Amino acid sequence: MAQYKPKTKEEIEAMRQGGKILAEVLLWLKEDKIKAGITTEIVDIYTREFFDKKKVKPVFLGYYGFPAAICISVNDAVIHGVPNTQTIIQDGDIVSLDCGVLHNNMIVDSAISFGIGEITEEARLLLERTNKSLNKAIKVIKAGATTGDIGYAVESYIDQFGYGIIRDYAGHGVGHKLHEDPTIPNYGKAGAGEKLISGLTIAVEPMITLGSEDVFTDADDDWTVYTDDGSLAAHFEHTILVTDKGAEILTQI
Ligand code: MG
Ligand code: MG
Repeated sequence: MAQYKPKTKEEIEAMRQGGKILAEVLLWLKEDKIKAGITTEIVDIYTREFFDKKKVKPVFLGYYGFPAAICISVNDAVIHGVPNTQTIIQDGDIVSLDCGVLHNNMIVDSAISFGIGEITEEARLLLERTNKSLNKAIKVIKAGATTGDIGYAVESYIDQFGYGIIRDYAGHGVGHKLHEDPTIPNYGKAGAGEKLISGLTIAVEPMITLGSEDVFTDADDDWTVYTDDGSLAAHFEHTILVTDKGAEILTQI
């Protein structure tokens, strides 16, 4: 078993503040800015402007060379979508935003997915159920629970719908770095894996598809991850503080 160092009170407070700003930018983009007809590159520009105003730093920009402040993954793109001038958001699309903030030297990470205009009933259900699987996972989190408990909570809820659960990517510890231990898969056995301790901060992020769980990375941009079968994907993520009593969501307003 790995030994994890709990975050200090000051570090947690920095993450709480950064998490609030991150939740604000995601909600602002969703409610006020993202509409049919705009390119995904514009969304990156809005994100950078918001961060400048709030005096926080985008963590994704430059991370292993990532060229933007935010990931925008449309329809069959699951994660790591690179904002660009070619992708125009359309009515009926589902859009996933994934973003990270550095504030007072601490990092938080969060993602949301939503529909543009009228979306199909099956897309609506995919969004609703993926979000619900994140809430199910959050409910089992407390000191003494395991990473397997989190994976099991997602998998045991999602399985009934026949959806694909992405296995090649997972949740993770977060705080000093964007990706810290432990790894938190979206499947697993209750009681298995790493034990969570009070003061640990983790990003939990189910990635669910209407079809295949197999994915590939775009050969041109070398980032965007798509479903093999072209099926729609949804992604929700929160940064969570593990406590003795349960979970505190840090990436909320
Ligand atoms: Mg993320
Ligand atoms: Mg993450």
